[in-house]
Amino acid sequence: MLGSRLTSANRETAAVISGLSIYLLTDKNKEAAAVTPVQKETRWEVAKSDPLSGVDTLKIRSVQHINTQQFAADNPGASPNDPDKNKTYNYRTYQSKLDPGWQFKGLNKDGTLRLFKEFELNVNHRASHTGLVETIGKVSDGFRKQADGKIKEIPEGVRKALEEGGYKTVLAPSVIEGLPNLKGQSHPGWTQDFSHIDGTVIAEEKLIVLGETRIDDNESKVKARANQPGHQFGHAFDALGEELQGKYFSATKEFLDIYEQDIKNMSPEDKNNKKDKDGDLTIVGYLTQSDGRGARETFASIFGMLTTGPENPGDDKEIVRLFPRTVDYMKTRILPKYNK
Ligand SMILES: [Zn+2]
Repeated sequence: MLGSRLTSANRETAAVISGLSIYLLTDKNKEAAAVTPVQKETRWEVAKSDPLSGVDTLKIRSVQHINTQQFAADNPGASPNDPDKNKTYNYRTYQSKLDPGWQFKGLNKDGTLRLFKEFELNVNHRASHTGLVETIGKVSDGFRKQADGKIKEIPEGVRKALEEGGYKTVLAPSVIEGLPNLKGQSHPGWTQDFSHIDGTVIAEEKLIVLGETRIDDNESKVKARANQPGHQFGHAFDALGEELQGKYFSATKEFLDIYEQDIKNMSPEDKNNKKDKDGDLTIVGYLTQSDGRGARETFASIFGMLTTGPENPGDDKEIVRLFPRTVDYMKTRILPKYNK
């Protein structure tokens, strides 16, 4: 269960590490802390600037906290009590992928482990890499304008939290041209590979990737869906919740209680309608996946719907019909805190 990786005791340690502990003592202060990102350990920095080649290299040192049970489950045979600093380990990502190559950094007081991994990203040269948006390769002015416009529709408090949290949004001709190592891989819950996707989030690398084009079901190249940024910003914001409040927004008890109530209240027809005739997940199937994935997709889908608009025409009606309480909760309890 990725979403519940951190127990409440573990979260406290994570908070101590990030300097948040003092804010977590009371509920009142919890709210104040929720709008002030303080964990700056993982963020993109410029490693090399090269105006001649036109390509700059950014790097990030990603640090993640993991409890011993999850570490043991992801690393059969390795002892969570005595990891080897010269070896590398697997880490289960926000997207539920088992990612190899993580090094052990140290133990927290409560026994949770800190793992780290370094990543690099080659982006188009700029004199200064301030702000959220970077570009890889050649994208059209029309796409840049469209993406910029949609990003402006994201609540300012969310954009600020992501920027201060070290996030980057990458515009690229396609997702796999932006991140070539995604080529041939597929996204959990999808049968198609990343060439068919117009946006994704790599939470551990604090990256939101938006492609100008994707390959459709008929294998032809088509333009990205205009409202894609809202859904992806929803995922990034959800994952940043771990730094802002010790847990993904979609993994808090408050969110899950309401989300699960909506699932319980669905009609038998809806509950049994999880796959279409081709065997792909329907909207119900996608949003009710197990192990926290359905909750993460529901959070991102509702966030996108309420900010930039539904990813696909008609999604909004279905989402409101299936998850009325969750929509209301995000509209009245989550977004207002960041809508400034
Ligand atoms: Zn998603």
